[in-house]
Amino acid sequence: MTSTAKTRYNQKVLQSLYQISEISSQAKDLDSLWQPLFQQILQIMQVDAGTLLILEGNVLQRKVAIGLDPQIMQEPPIPLGKGISGKVAQSRKPQIISDLTREKTASAVLQQADLHSLITVPLQARGQLLGVLSIFTRQQRQFQRSDLELLSTISNQAALSILAIKSSDLLLENQRKLEQLDALNQISKSISSLFNFEETLYTTLGVMAKIFHSEKGLLTLLDFKTHLLKGVLPAFGLADNQALDFRVRTEEAISGQAFYRGIPILQNQIDSQTKEVLKRAHIFDVKSMIAAPLRVKSQTLGVLHLFSQSENNFQKVDLGLFSILTSQAAVVVNSSMMFSQIAEEKNKAEILLSSIGEGVYAVDKDLKLIFVNSAVEKLTGWLSEEVAGQRYSEVLPLLDKDKKPIAPEERPLKQVLNSGKTISRSQGYFLERRDKTSFPIAFTTAAIYNAQGKITGAIVAFRDKTAELEVEEMKKELISIATHELRAPITGMKGYLEMILEGQTGQVPAETQEVVSEVWQINENLAILVDDLLNVSRLEQGRMQFNLQPIDAAEQIEATLKTFQAQAKKKNLKLEFQKPTKPLPQILADPERYNQVLINLVSNALKYTIQGKVVVVLALDRAGRYLETQISDSGVGISGQDQKHLFEKFYRIKNAKTRQVSGTGLGLWICKQIAQRMSGKIRVRSQEGVGSTFSFNLPVVPR
Ligand code: ADP
Repeated sequence: MTSTAKTRYNQKVLQSLYQISEISSQAKDLDSLWQPLFQQILQIMQVDAGTLLILEGNVLQRKVAIGLDPQIMQEPPIPLGKGISGKVAQSRKPQIISDLTREKTASAVLQQADLHSLITVPLQARGQLLGVLSIFTRQQRQFQRSDLELLSTISNQAALSILAIKSSDLLLENQRKLEQLDALNQISKSISSLFNFEETLYTTLGVMAKIFHSEKGLLTLLDFKTHLLKGVLPAFGLADNQALDFRVRTEEAISGQAFYRGIPILQNQIDSQTKEVLKRAHIFDVKSMIAAPLRVKSQTLGVLHLFSQSENNFQKVDLGLFSILTSQAAVVVNSSMMFSQIAEEKNKAEILLSSIGEGVYAVDKDLKLIFVNSAVEKLTGWLSEEVAGQRYSEVLPLLDKDKKPIAPEERPLKQVLNSGKTISRSQGYFLERRDKTSFPIAFTTAAIYNAQGKITGAIVAFRDKTAELEVEEMKKELISIATHELRAPITGMKGYLEMILEGQTGQVPAETQEVVSEVWQINENLAILVDDLLNVSRLEQGRMQFNLQPIDAAEQIEATLKTFQAQAKKKNLKLEFQKPTKPLPQILADPERYNQVLINLVSNALKYTIQGKVVVVLALDRAGRYLETQISDSGVGISGQDQKHLFEKFYRIKNAKTRQVSGTGLGLWICKQIAQRMSGKIRVRSQEGVGSTFSFNLPVVPR
């Protein structure tokens, strides 16, 4: 080339480069770049045919074909190493072919196109292969070396332009991907309650694998105990056992590096440690991989990996995006994990609640059912799905002791919601079933509070008392039958013993008299016990009759005390009635029952007093509505603790002073029941070692 020719050539190159960069700068994106760019190249090269192929994944895709049969665009993409273009791409070395008709590797279209010679050059910039471009001549024009140089220079410039657009494209694309992922993240956050961990993880891995053109994705989570990063299921593109066998120490391999350095790492050459880890997990076809720590706040949960079977699948530029996406994934995975944990806890609680035999249900603050366990289903016949969201009072109404609905204000649940105080009841309530039958229950109901301490609902636990009541009923029946059967022989025995003692059966020696008296006393105690038991069963079964009438208490007392004087005298005790100074009103009572209580209390007073006196007093209350009968003694007294239990069935105080005294522990219970039946109350005041006062009041007959 002459110097002027050289100058002209250089000018042409500069001009061409300018034109190329002009075209590139005007292109909005890559797709709108190919056609004008390639046309410009052909023009510069003064040819009228050529093809531009761009590397996408592992294959060359035709982007432009000029001066050729348009059908060439329909042909399949060219793999690296195949055909002229494939070979140039793989070797990255340009090629000149002067007689195309003799070239076997040329495609059919090219061969038929009456083309003569060709130059194919790689399109590359910054060491990165972008594609291949070819130009053809039809005429007998032989391409020169200078043509090749020029084309190489131009294509380098073109490649740089493409790269520039590509990276701005990539930026845009990244932006879009980020937006997409952000959307995914948003969605997963808002519906995290519906998500399960598996789905979330699989979707996340899938999305990332797609973005980075990799076939496999795996999340490892840190096992705090063993300090191992362990593969978790589900993995993307890996069999379960491959995922589970992927176990790395936190200081080992690429995973470990990503973990403890806290940064994403890519490997286009798999190191030996990582190969070992992959081998252990039976993962063989990995040529490149990328790993990033999964971090939430300051905690590293694990490492996320993407594997590719292609070499150099990941570029340094990918690291930033990968790391951003991984941190997004971390949020998703973390919230999902937390959700799973909560769900698990919830499940545990539900299993616990459903396995217990007690019915448990909960309502919100509007008294609508939010939970019923399976015992409720069993006991009431409702299905939880049927009652959820319904007002509890409509499906699980509580009934009173007469099986009548309870007024809204008096319903325990309502009271608990208002007051926050726990309510427990063991009797007097029934629960209605779906079929309107009902059963007796004992229940406890308590408020449910939120984190702020506000009442948000209430929970009820109840127990079916049917069986219990049946047993109790049977016990009562047994007692009542037994005592009736006992009463007759005892009375008979008493009669005979008295006959013997009175000498009606003949002269009785003094010793025999003593023994028979003992037997009489034993029989008498037995009679008292049987009478007490009879009274108990009568009271419990509501069979005790009360004929209420106006009676004069003073008269009753005077008459009754007379029968005790002998007994008092025997113990050397003074027994007296402090007569009222002014006339007292009559009381409304059954005279027999009044006496029964009086007898019981006076008899106790005498029994538990060693010395001193027993005094009976009548006292009218201030309002003049109740008259109280008070029986005071100077006896052993009763401790505060014992006073609390005194009126319970079978309660007897066992200490040195009372042990010798025989009794059933039923007397005071019976007295209390009788007093209550006649609208009265019984009470005790006592001091140990000083004495006791037992009093019971009864309503006065209005004048
Ligand atoms: P009991 O048949 O044992 O007398 P009660 O029900 O009548 O049964 O009385 C329960 C217990 O109360 C007695 O065992 C006794 O310890 C105590 N108690 C009853 N009355 C008196 C009293 N006046 N003074 C002291 N203790 C009494």
